[in-house]
Amino acid sequence: MKQLQMNRWMTMRVRFAPSPTGMLHVGNARTALISWLFTRAHNGHFILRIDDTDQERSKDEYEQAVEEGLSWLGIDWDEKRRQKDRFDIYNAKIEQLKNDGRLYPCYETPEELDLKRKSQLSRKLPPIYDREALELSDEQIKQYEVAGRNPHWRFKLNHAPIEWHDEVRGNVKFKGADLSDPVLIREDGSPLYHICSVIDDIEYGITHVVRGEDHVSNTACHIQMFEALGSKAPNFAHLPLLSDKEGGKLSKRIGSLSLAELQEEGLEPMSLVSLFARLGSSDPIEVFTDIKRVIAEFDLSKFSRGTPKFDAQELYRLNAKILHELCFGDVKSELAGLGLSDLDKDFWEVVKPNIEKLSDVKEWWDVAKGDVKPIIEDAEFIAEALELLPPTPWDENTWMSWANAVKEKTGRKGKKLFMPLRQAITGMDHGPELASLLLLIGADNVKARLQSHKAAA
Ligand code: GLU
Repeated sequence: MKQLQMNRWMTMRVRFAPSPTGMLHVGNARTALISWLFTRAHNGHFILRIDDTDQERSKDEYEQAVEEGLSWLGIDWDEKRRQKDRFDIYNAKIEQLKNDGRLYPCYETPEELDLKRKSQLSRKLPPIYDREALELSDEQIKQYEVAGRNPHWRFKLNHAPIEWHDEVRGNVKFKGADLSDPVLIREDGSPLYHICSVIDDIEYGITHVVRGEDHVSNTACHIQMFEALGSKAPNFAHLPLLSDKEGGKLSKRIGSLSLAELQEEGLEPMSLVSLFARLGSSDPIEVFTDIKRVIAEFDLSKFSRGTPKFDAQELYRLNAKILHELCFGDVKSELAGLGLSDLDKDFWEVVKPNIEKLSDVKEWWDVAKGDVKPIIEDAEFIAEALELLPPTPWDENTWMSWANAVKEKTGRKGKKLFMPLRQAITGMDHGPELASLLLLIGADNVKARLQSHKAAA
């Protein structure tokens, strides 16, 4: 494993910083999971930071949904913080930056900025803010103020090289002059994400920031903000964003799938954990049923810059495999939640190889205990089979002796023998082993279903 840039006495401190402006979707969930696995693998301290400075769009119900989604995945946190509780702290640091000359007021409207950008692009120039506001005279500023325009404030980047070693991307280099001075304060005086995030990362002693690669150029600006506030920047790891299975942009439908929807679809959280713990790394995807094992084997240095392809079908395949490995005790309470509290261990063991989602169990429960519509095409054959049904009590050999007797009497074998019996007993043409199913369905039910041949005759 690559040497992490921290000394051995230091506790790793990592934060996951969602904005509660919507549901936690697949991409965020992946970032959360990787940050958390990374932290837990190093016995670190994990902070859930709610980035709710946008008071208009942030909602309590989203914050709650984020927490529920994380908990469902098995992610816990040692500390939770909210940005909206900290405006006084942000304002004090902002004053400091203003006094140090690192923030400057700008009066352009969004339309004026848009025009500037368009004109730069038409002249084949990069759309970098031209710092026109730095040239304003006191008189011009006064005129804007009199006209009722409030300034937004930009951070003055040093036009120097910016470099860092990224845990995922390797060495990353930017030139300060190639970046627009970021806006840190809105016209209404409220601080924006960049500065709040940097102040918090300093104050909470964050050692590693793990986030999506859409933040790479932000990081270049943040590094100078850390310095301007007298701190050393933490280590960074930027994860490539997920693409669809063909390598294209993740569709809105899939990309915006929320954890709550996946949960509702009946996915096991461990299917997401298994997939995201490995997708985009050099380790193969494996079925994990125990999150402690995922933590023990997690290694961020095996992740690379290559775009990981996300295939929702793969999730379902993993889900089925995970279910097939679970024992009754693991699913008992979830099954009870699906209204299947009478279901026992024997039933689970028989049907689990036939399910993809836990809720599929209900279908088999109805096949065994509910009103089944038998499929009977050859009523004569079924009548003969009914005659030969062995006496109770039944055991695991009942099916074999019955099938042999029917075979002898009718001369049928193979599929011609089994399929009509299965269809008559279950109303389906596939399913768990008939030897076990007979016992789950019970002699009375089996007889009643076979007797419905009379109606079919
Ligand atoms: N709230 C930001 C986001 O969701 C946080 C990014 C970061 O980790 O700094 O994109």
